[in-house]
Amino acid sequence: TQTLHIIGGGMAGSEAAWQAANLGVNVVIHEMRPKVETFAHQTGNLAEMVCSNSFRSDDDEQNAVGLLHWEMRTAGGIIMTTADKHKLPAGGALAVDRDLFAEAVTATLTVHPNISVSYEEIDSLPDDGQWIIATGPLTSGKLATAIAAETGAEALAFFDAIAPILYHDSIDMTKAWMQSRYDKGETIEEQTAYLNCPMTKDDYEAFIDALLAAEKTEFKEGETAGYFDGCLPIEVMAERGRETLRFGPMKPVGLTNEHDPQNKPYAVVQLRRDNALGTLYNIVGFQTKMKYGAQTDVFKRIPGLENANFARLGGIHRNTFLNSPTLLDGQMRLKSKPNIRFAGQITGVEGYVESAAMGLLAGRLAVAEMRGETLGPVPNTTATGALVTHITGGADAKTFQPMNVNFGLFPPVDGLKSGRRGRKDRYKAYTDRAKVEWQAWLDQSALDDS
Ligand code: FAD
Repeated sequence: TQTLHIIGGGMAGSEAAWQAANLGVNVVIHEMRPKVETFAHQTGNLAEMVCSNSFRSDDDEQNAVGLLHWEMRTAGGIIMTTADKHKLPAGGALAVDRDLFAEAVTATLTVHPNISVSYEEIDSLPDDGQWIIATGPLTSGKLATAIAAETGAEALAFFDAIAPILYHDSIDMTKAWMQSRYDKGETIEEQTAYLNCPMTKDDYEAFIDALLAAEKTEFKEGETAGYFDGCLPIEVMAERGRETLRFGPMKPVGLTNEHDPQNKPYAVVQLRRDNALGTLYNIVGFQTKMKYGAQTDVFKRIPGLENANFARLGGIHRNTFLNSPTLLDGQMRLKSKPNIRFAGQITGVEGYVESAAMGLLAGRLAVAEMRGETLGPVPNTTATGALVTHITGGADAKTFQPMNVNFGLFPPVDGLKSGRRGRKDRYKAYTDRAKVEWQAWLDQSALDDS
């Protein structure tokens, strides 16, 4: 019988192993810890949570990550069921005792008759057999070099530089306007790719003061190497000089404010469409190390964004991830070496839950392939499907950055009110639809443990 090899026993690798083993496949997890360490992991346990002990919102009716919890529970996922056993009181969030959680995942996987764990670092790409690479944001240097040799160096990033992303329907279009700089772009698509928010001199000066005063997050030891190449945080640009941003990402040239064509704005904040659906926009060039609370305070000062609703805030982190839209097929296989799937944060999703969800999917897809079957695509109306659709096709490959699950990735439900007031009904409709379609996909994929 064939064996499924999984490199990395983190959130994604553990979930992939569990899914495959329960479907009757022999699995070997290759995990480098505790022999080789990372700067963030503290133990040799599988599924170690490297930072916060929270799996975020557990609300499966109003929150996209809560919906992802629901989908994983429905598929018998080990990450969610173990989290439920070791949860701590945390309001609407699912927080866990991190040590009990990781110890329990490790114990459950290591006693599974179909799973063995090999504690070793893998440093090259396997040529044959079925493999899943789930080595995460801190993939070891040797393996990263081997991956880059296969994919081309430009297709593997070592840092993310995430600009904040917000919902289009929360932007005040009585202040913002749609225009690409110098009206560039041939197609309607290109011409409607940008929104602009104008600033007066007073707005700009107050904005710079707020940036300089905002609380920032520090890099950890060993995290920074190489980050200053081309992804300076906006607050660092502001520290270099009060005019730097006005000559950089906030330059007002090539734009005319349609609400006030006579007056040239002193500075302009540009937003770029972030997904094909046009529900999400990112703030161009606004990667930042400001703390989350500070970001919302500062960004809501931008005219037109006073009521902005953020799908994700900005950040810069050590993060090894692939340009998945160009490299992976819809089955999460490396196009150039289809015996290898990728899963977890290295595919360009962000977060414990999202990483585990991509492990769940990769494990199931691998088992189907080993049995000579093909699983149909997960509908993009589900949280799992919305994520995998985004990373393997929906996202723009040129500007690809890691993504959290959020409702902006879901196709709209027809006939519902847009904007702030309809939000509750809309989210309920998304989650109702997702549950039906996820269940149908699980049933249709009918991978019983034969
Ligand atoms: P991991 O859980 O990191 O698992 C990858 C595994 O692969 C590790 O066990 C590693 O030792 C192993 N490995 C790496 N290279 C090799 C190799 N060559 N051979 C064998 N094994 C190898 N997400 C959140 O939701 N909340 C947070 O608070 C949060 N904080 C984070 C803080 C830091 C510092 C970092 C780096 C990330 C953080 N993340 C957080 C993001 C991310 O969701 C987690 O890192 C998550 O654990 C990713 O899951 P994964 O399975 O893809 O990778």
